[in-house]
Amino acid sequence: MEIITNEKQAKEVLKDFNETALVPTMGNLHDGHLSLLSKAKEVGEIVLASIYINPLQFGVNEDFDNYPRTLDDDLLKLEKTGCDFVFCPSEDILKNIKNYQAPDISKKLCGKSRPTHFDGVVTIVRKLFEVLNPDYAIFGLKDYQQFLIIKKFFNEMNFHTKIIGSPIVRESDGLAMSSRNNLLTSENRKIAPKIYKQLAWIRDNIENQSHSDLILNSIETFKENNIHPEYLSILNPDTLEDAKDDDLSVLIAIAVKLGNVRLIDNILIN
Ligand code: AMP
Repeated sequence: MEIITNEKQAKEVLKDFNETALVPTMGNLHDGHLSLLSKAKEVGEIVLASIYINPLQFGVNEDFDNYPRTLDDDLLKLEKTGCDFVFCPSEDILKNIKNYQAPDISKKLCGKSRPTHFDGVVTIVRKLFEVLNPDYAIFGLKDYQQFLIIKKFFNEMNFHTKIIGSPIVRESDGLAMSSRNNLLTSENRKIAPKIYKQLAWIRDNIENQSHSDLILNSIETFKENNIHPEYLSILNPDTLEDAKDDDLSVLIAIAVKLGNVRLIDNILIN
């Protein structure tokens, strides 16, 4: 595995390769990230990963400073998983960067409490695409809204890179894997699996209860468990508008605060 640190090196090293598949990450890698690498291997011939904690996507009072940084460990995991090249850009990557605006669906869900987040995401992902020029890029469906925004953004820009979504990987107790799980207190780590459990309860009861009842009951359950939902919504998976009670294809999406830690999760019903 070769480590690339700047744009010039990237152009030089990658110029002879076709069918490259990129997995953008912020590091602190877990099996969720590594599953994206397996997907990259399936669709492409050369697997690229990037590790960059992008300051542009953190708001002023968010967790940029205490976001877990575990580069040495991450590189070992990537190497073991069969990554061919890893891009670890220096802060230089932000020099003269052109800022982009995310499509309007970025204003919903997570965008309500993180109004600049998705602009920061599309800006850095576009820069990564310009530097690495991947044929495929793999994103986790755990960040479903991010996946949808990126798909729309690059479609509208006519980029050749194909955007691929990959399923959520969970801990054995159902909690969606996330670098932020490491920031939970041990007590809150025990409570956290209730998030997925409740989403699964909604899924299992969606045919015989109204969406509003399912949501109200769930919010009650969360409150009893000291989980504070920022949103819990049952949505059309393409538009992120509220779904109708008889819609067959829906996204059940949630963001919660557990202590100081913000966690998101979702279940997609097709
Ligand atoms: P992050 O490092 O948190 O920015 O995540 C990098 C990529 O990994 C994003 O595309 C995420 O959606 C994806 N990802 C994070 N956690 C999971 C998970 N539990 N299952 C699948 N993909 C994930």
